Amino acid sequence: MTSEISNYIRRHEAAIAPLYKDYSQKLWDLSLSGSEEREKALVEAKERYLKVYNNSEEFRQIRQWKSSHVQTDPIEARQLKLIHDAFVPHQIKEDVLRDIVRRETEIENLFNTFRANFEGGEASDNQLRDVLRNENDITRRRAAWEASKQIGHEVASQLLELIAIRNREARNLGYPDYYSMMFELQELDEKWVFSLFERLEHLSEPIFSEMKAELDATLKEKYRVTDLQTYPWLYSDPFFQEFPAAGASESLDEIFKDSDIEALTRAHYNSIGLDIEDLLRRADLYEREGKSQHAFCLDVDHEGDIRVLCNIRKNERWMSTMLHEFGHAVYDKYNDRSLPFSLRTPAHILTTEAIAMLNGRMSKDPDWLMKIGGLSEGDAKRMGASALKTLRSEMLIFLRWAITLVRFERELYRNSGQNLNSLWWKYVERVQKVTPPSNRDQPDWASKIHLASSPVYYQNYVLGELMASQLLWHIHGKVVRSGSYAGNPEVGQYLVENVFKPGARYDWNTLLKKATGEELNPEHFVRQFVDNN
Ligand SMILES: [Zn+2]
Repeated sequence: MTSEISNYIRRHEAAIAPLYKDYSQKLWDLSLSGSEEREKALVEAKERYLKVYNNSEEFRQIRQWKSSHVQTDPIEARQLKLIHDAFVPHQIKEDVLRDIVRRETEIENLFNTFRANFEGGEASDNQLRDVLRNENDITRRRAAWEASKQIGHEVASQLLELIAIRNREARNLGYPDYYSMMFELQELDEKWVFSLFERLEHLSEPIFSEMKAELDATLKEKYRVTDLQTYPWLYSDPFFQEFPAAGASESLDEIFKDSDIEALTRAHYNSIGLDIEDLLRRADLYEREGKSQHAFCLDVDHEGDIRVLCNIRKNERWMSTMLHEFGHAVYDKYNDRSLPFSLRTPAHILTTEAIAMLNGRMSKDPDWLMKIGGLSEGDAKRMGASALKTLRSEMLIFLRWAITLVRFERELYRNSGQNLNSLWWKYVERVQKVTPPSNRDQPDWASKIHLASSPVYYQNYVLGELMASQLLWHIHGKVVRSGSYAGNPEVGQYLVENVFKPGARYDWNTLLKKATGEELNPEHFVRQFVDNN
């Protein structure tokens, strides 16, 4: 029996590894230069890859092995569990599965190709965002914000149909709904996560209100707004998920306007003892016509072929983004090559986000600005203070936004028949403290692409930030002998041994306990960003 399981796992991994690699390569190709041909190649590669998990015969066998509690070694038991979890959401009739992929692709295409009606012409999402970032005229800001919501009206009914199908299939598989299924498959305890979010909402209430009042006053003065309300077009992005640069006392972009962002990224990782030379060589870092405008890291084969895509500009945002993406990349690079394929990967989305976030925060760290950024002690002190304030505001704004979205998304799956338009604004008003536009009854929620393309995902960003703070606390207290994060090779060594190398050998919380001595503890984040100090 045991050897039967071992043989199966080996066969499965031998089959899935090349399909995964092929899919990743096609994804990379498409990101470098979009074309219909490459898009088709990607969809086909994805279908070949996912089809493996569609095999119901195989799934029945895996399930039986899992429930019979055969004694296997811990590594094999973990592999079997993860393979099982990968099969579950694909245990759907082939034509239904294809229908779901087709619907998802259609909605994503709509998001990519939609042009809003704006000032008598057409405007892309980026153009509308530029207006929200730079325009001083509040009437024009309002028009751009409203235009950014048109896509919601366009996709809402299709998205609701897709959600109904996702729910129906999840119920067929024995789950209450798709949302609960995805939590379980991500090894997240829904009750625990929601009570944690409630606590974070409660704890951050005073400091968020205080920070936001100050921000609102700055923005209103800038845009000459006398209205007491804080309508959503006051902010620099369509969802108030980012800290508006216009609200900062000092522009951090000044620091990086003449910097070599790539060299600073190399210097940062070298300073903590991690070599990213090979990763930089394989990366595609600068803007080009036809190239994806986003940033991501892709582990092509779990064997060292790791690729980062960025579109570097000489500003603070790209400095932070580079540090973030190469955080993902070092996690993938320094895995344990002796582990089997399915475990040679981060323990969880939230753990790799944590490493990326931990490093991405450094561009606002006074000590980093001096050691790596090359600022004089005086400048680092002055700029660093305002950088730290910005970082805290960013954290609080993102936290409140993520709580809004996560709460809404659960309701979307639990009861999509309720008045979603008003529910959305109820959460936005309560958690983000943004005034709903009067008499507005539009599916504004549907203009957030994540609800369609990355369902039940957002909670991982918050959990990742919490873990990042916990790691930093542990590193300061137990890992570095003196000084701080940057400039200490012990940091890299600690991360490699305790976070990267274990791969997916343990579930994320066990990993965290082994790495820091305790399970996920939100107090470290609270101490760093929420407590008034
Ligand atoms: Zn990331």
